[in-house]
Amino acid sequence: MLEKLKTEVYNANLELVRNGLVIHTWGNVSARDHDTGMIVIKPSGVSYNSMKAADMVVIDKKGNVVEGKFKPSTDAPTHLLLYEKWSSLGGIVHTHSSFATAWAQAGRAIPPFGTTHADHFRGEIPCTRSLTDKEIINDYEVNTGRIIIESLGKADPLTVPSALVNCHGPFCWGKDADEAVYNAISLEEIAKIAFYTVLLGRSEPAGIALLDKHFNRKHGSAAYYGQTKNK
Ligand SMILES: [Zn+2]
Repeated sequence: MLEKLKTEVYNANLELVRNGLVIHTWGNVSARDHDTGMIVIKPSGVSYNSMKAADMVVIDKKGNVVEGKFKPSTDAPTHLLLYEKWSSLGGIVHTHSSFATAWAQAGRAIPPFGTTHADHFRGEIPCTRSLTDKEIINDYEVNTGRIIIESLGKADPLTVPSALVNCHGPFCWGKDADEAVYNAISLEEIAKIAFYTVLLGRSEPAGIALLDKHFNRKHGSAAYYGQTKNK
């Protein structure tokens, strides 16, 4: 079942490796089938070299395995909570990519320092609070999802398509798996640029007029970046 989605999730996982965001098995991608509500997710701990599209695991909304010979990614409960909270999401990516993880380990949100950031993210990229010991001991992965949701506040997840989990790493999402991967790649580059910006001595975000201009010309109904679509 869901063979097309399995192939999409498989390719998205490999795309993380190709773009240098993941080594070993340090990442995972999932996608949601909007018709059935089923989630297709990478199997836990299976090497990218030996992994096949058919190895992707199909789980239901509660995390029960519906199809697949492997266990799903251990981060599946985090993915499931984000899908449950945000109906617009069709794909989720988790990596430990270097620069985004450095910001996460520093416990710092990434400020919108310039137009590269604003072309992609509306406002800062949030960093969650730390989990309490109790939240770590019980339902760790579900609680990770909870603090991600908490960190977004009222923001539209499609305009802030990433969050940094404190002392852990980034989770990114999008309308589908491809868009989530695209956002993970963009986040890593933005985290890198922001790191150097801070090293060079800037701590204040760019002005709101410039940030809004760049975000709005690429996103939303008044967007005018790129080529006009054929009607
Ligand atoms: Zn992780």
